[in-house]
Amino acid sequence: MKQSREGVEAGKEKERREWVLKGLTRSLIYYYSTKGKERMSRSLQRQQQFQSLQEAVAFCASTVPYYKDIFKKHHLSSALASFEDFEKIPLTPKTDLRDLPAERFFPYGRSRSDHWSSTTTGSSGIPVKIYRDSVADAWTKALLFYILNKAGVGLFDRFCRIHAALPDQSSLKGFLMRLGIKRYFSLSVSASNEEMIKDLQKIDPQVIYAYPSTLIHLSVYMEKHHVRLFPKALIGTGEMLPEGWRQHIEKVFQAPLYHTYGSTEFPRVGFECQKKQGYHLFPDVVYLEILDDRGRSVVDQEGEIVLTHLNNPGMPLLRYRMGDCGILSTRSCSCGITFPLLEQVTGRMDDFLVLPSGHKVTARFVTQLEYPEIERYRVVQRAPDLVEALVVPGNHFNEAVTEKITQTLRDACLNEKVTIRIKTVNELPLSRNGKLQTFFREFKANDESEETLRLAPR
Ligand SMILES: [Zn+2]
Repeated sequence: MKQSREGVEAGKEKERREWVLKGLTRSLIYYYSTKGKERMSRSLQRQQQFQSLQEAVAFCASTVPYYKDIFKKHHLSSALASFEDFEKIPLTPKTDLRDLPAERFFPYGRSRSDHWSSTTTGSSGIPVKIYRDSVADAWTKALLFYILNKAGVGLFDRFCRIHAALPDQSSLKGFLMRLGIKRYFSLSVSASNEEMIKDLQKIDPQVIYAYPSTLIHLSVYMEKHHVRLFPKALIGTGEMLPEGWRQHIEKVFQAPLYHTYGSTEFPRVGFECQKKQGYHLFPDVVYLEILDDRGRSVVDQEGEIVLTHLNNPGMPLLRYRMGDCGILSTRSCSCGITFPLLEQVTGRMDDFLVLPSGHKVTARFVTQLEYPEIERYRVVQRAPDLVEALVVPGNHFNEAVTEKITQTLRDACLNEKVTIRIKTVNELPLSRNGKLQTFFREFKANDESEETLRLAPR
């Protein structure tokens, strides 16, 4: 009996190894194909992207129930003749992913057991469950290798990820670690600074992959306690990166910080190269559009970011509204990589203040309180005429900083009759997703539904 149980275990382990090696092979192929295209002319890239779009659309229209119904309802052809045809496809809102069964987005013949899932962090207030198959997973890994390579980090360097959800410590990782292929460590974002620093000193990572809010928190702590770590590079993910944070983090860690753009739905959208002139996009996995307020596709001007999967056969999304704004640039980057550049990803579309006059202003201006004297902050608009800034003071916090914050908030409120309160606090609770969200509006605008309401964590 004992013997046979061991036999079964050994069989499972063998199966897992084969599965890991298959995934690794795939990742390597995707990595080299991306590398091979990094200097391809933009016109050729666009041509290839159009072919990928044709394939993605034909696939969705014929095999994915959600899109099949949309194409039927809007009398759209599944054979794209031009980019203009593509722009006729209705946008996919986050709420559809949340409200409909996931199976509506799976191609026929696929079920939940063919995928593994992750839930989006819900920083937009709308958490959705996303399913990925082995192809999407291999792409995600391949592009992480690529991003690390561009940041000067090698395959065998020690990599430490600090994040909200700890992945399972299965034998697969042990297997890769034993082979020396993976030197991957992960820490929880919910640990205290002291614990995190202790662990980081033990691991001595060459690269740290974390949310900007975690890195700023660590860097303030390190400065205060004269602690040093020696990474070659830092990779930011999952949140916006205020420029002031970048400067402080790079100064304390004495290492460059490369930020990335992506989400659970689209894990690898863009990355910063050494020149940091914007996010280079990955044209093989995602098609990015920027839409103006009339829904027209634009370049070199700010608009809403809309994304389409080009290589995600398990749960493909067409024209998905990310909820962020950005500028798709026609400039080329001086690093020589020709992948398109996404400039200035700015705050979330739904982050805006509603003033007593009913006027809406972007919250971007109140979420950039990047003073070195502040460790963390959160701005909460409690009512149209009440804005509160909760501030965790840093090392040199003083009255003059309070004045500066008040003035910034007053300017952002267009000098309308709004009471501005600055409160210093010892700690700011993180959102459920482990991120530090910097802005909340605790009442809804006239044209918003109840579900958009997000209360600041207390
Ligand atoms: Zn570049």
